Amino acid sequence: AEEVGGGDKEVVREYFNNSGFQRWRKIYGETDEVNRVQKDIRLGHSQTVENVLKMLKDEGSLEGVSVCDAGCGTGCLAIPLAKEGAVVYASDISAAMVAEAEKQNGEDSFRCGECSHGGTEATTLAAKEQLQAGSEKKVVMPKFEVNDLESLNGKYDTVVCLDVLIHYPQSKADGMIAHLASLSENRLLLSFAPKTFYYDLLKRVGELFPGPSKATRAYLHAEADVERALKKVGWKIRKRGLITTQFYFSRLVEAIPA
Ligand code: SAM
Repeated sequence: AEEVGGGDKEVVREYFNNSGFQRWRKIYGETDEVNRVQKDIRLGHSQTVENVLKMLKDEGSLEGVSVCDAGCGTGCLAIPLAKEGAVVYASDISAAMVAEAEKQNGEDSFRCGECSHGGTEATTLAAKEQLQAGSEKKVVMPKFEVNDLESLNGKYDTVVCLDVLIHYPQSKADGMIAHLASLSENRLLLSFAPKTFYYDLLKRVGELFPGPSKATRAYLHAEADVERALKKVGWKIRKRGLITTQFYFSRLVEAIPA
């Protein structure tokens, strides 16, 4: 049965701090401790990240552009965005995910002296030299925080929320979309599992064979419903993308104030 009240959120938080964390850390990571399905999802998801980076960069340099990454997971998008010069605020409802994102960021090659992630003086110096030799781009470390997206406030040039809506029914997604739009001055990028006849069928078939990994409900969203939710708060879709592999499918939309 569908969760009511705050139920979905608590279930999602619990999942992404425990078994969901173990599963997705592997999928979003680089090691080969993944099975065939997980490997395919990893591939699809990395294509989504690439598409987002491309969509964002197509509109001009990201240097100094403030970006809020809501539901950042292990930082797959936040870290490359920061490398492009964006000023990234990334948050997630799961403390385990945020800790992993910080770890990934710390292990990344562009450690700098100003960040709180340590790094030896030698690596810091090397990274700085690399930056200076490479480009003039000013890299600011992403700021990672544990926060659910409903509690976010402030204003950002760009707000991104990737593969998060899948955990919420459309009735909740409407409010989440409205809130994300209110945080953004110029653009909002959302990705979600599209509700089409085919995927709905596939999902129903999948549900007949519940595996241990299916610990949370997955909700598909019709593109028209997402578009309507955006329209209600005065936003319109400017660009669309569809990323599909065998086991991963994600509709990507970029919305702007209408
Ligand atoms: N956006 C990341 C990416 O694409 O790499 C992670 C996607 S993962 C499938 C979904 C993430 O959304 C999880 O890390 C989960 O903890 C987070 N999440 C779920 N509900 C959330 C909420 N209400 N507020 C913030 N984060 C949430």
